[in-house]
Amino acid sequence: MKLNGCFDNLTENYLFAEVGKRTNEYIAAHPDKKIIKLGIGDVTLPLVPAVIEAMHGAVDEMASADTFRGYGPYEGYAFLRESIKKHYAELGVSVGVDEIFVSDGAKSDLGSILDLFDKDNTVVVTDPVYPVYVDTNTLAGRKVILASATEANGFLPMPDRSVKADIIYICSPNNPTGAAYSKAQLKEWVDYANAVGAVILYDAAYECFISDNSLARSIYSVEGAKSCAVEICSFSKTAGFTGTRCGYTVVPAAICGGKLNKMWYRRQATKFNGVSYVVQKGAAAVYTEQGMAQIRANIDRYRRNAQLIADCMDRLGIWYTGGKNSPYIWLKCPRGMGSWEFFDYILNNAQVVGTPGVGFGTNGEGFFRLTAFGSEEATKEAIARIERLLSE
Ligand code: PLP
Repeated sequence: MKLNGCFDNLTENYLFAEVGKRTNEYIAAHPDKKIIKLGIGDVTLPLVPAVIEAMHGAVDEMASADTFRGYGPYEGYAFLRESIKKHYAELGVSVGVDEIFVSDGAKSDLGSILDLFDKDNTVVVTDPVYPVYVDTNTLAGRKVILASATEANGFLPMPDRSVKADIIYICSPNNPTGAAYSKAQLKEWVDYANAVGAVILYDAAYECFISDNSLARSIYSVEGAKSCAVEICSFSKTAGFTGTRCGYTVVPAAICGGKLNKMWYRRQATKFNGVSYVVQKGAAAVYTEQGMAQIRANIDRYRRNAQLIADCMDRLGIWYTGGKNSPYIWLKCPRGMGSWEFFDYILNNAQVVGTPGVGFGTNGEGFFRLTAFGSEEATKEAIARIERLLSE
């Protein structure tokens, strides 16, 4: 027996463990101080009433022999895929029901989709990056090339025509930087991918935060994307499903003459037995008139928090990306501080916890991520403390 040696190539990610360790040490030494956490990447508002009601109804169906459901379709129930298709149509995008595959979330699909690609493909990811893209490819022994995201390019790198990429990851709005590509910028990526025969894995987990019409809520609003892009999306941030688990992936029939779509169906049928009926009923309720109004109200609450943080950065004259079309604010640490130096500085002097940018890649050094997923009260208190400290 030989173990998968690629596990030895993973770089240990101590980011959140180290954040937790330093925070707990501070709390132990200062039990009287109230800490505010703006580092959290998880939602805090509960599921909306329309979702809860639909899930309760589905549980009752499971309790009766004539409405009970056993195994569902691998690709998800038609009622949910039809609702997703309608949602795309409202964004001005045409997606076929057979191109939509329901899953238990974006993270699983981001890892699983790699089953469809040869080990010898060259992968392009941005630096800084959501670590899942790098780690899943490292485990498969694939070569990963970093596209440099920096202050100079607004943390939105564009294609390097001297590099022959096979698999390209794009996350927009981005985690951790909050930066979002314009449709014109995405068109450049799509043209590049089509020209070199690459596939784009487009992570749209934060699309619901986009309010600016010049930005794409789906890569399929860009001409040519149907022949090169797989879109991976999630109910996690859109509707608070981080603990409930549901997402979907669109694999267009136009990629590789339909082969990729068929391969993904085959892959899911082999290794995945579908998402529970109760959860899919809850997800479908998101698209009802009531559900939409309710999730929009929640998203707006996070948006207002993001705006409060962004306004604070503006007043302090601190450079940042995100905040407007994203729940993340990626700021340049003031006074030339490094990421961890700034972490310790605001923990010790303002009792606010954020996430050091360097934890997401080398280019993150000197940057820091704050998130809008806290309560309005906590967000207001945290920025008041940061503003007081940095105005001294
Ligand atoms: N993609 C990005 C960029 C994320 O930040 C996250 C979660 O934070 C995910 C995917 C995972 O989403 P899910 O909860 O659907 O697995």
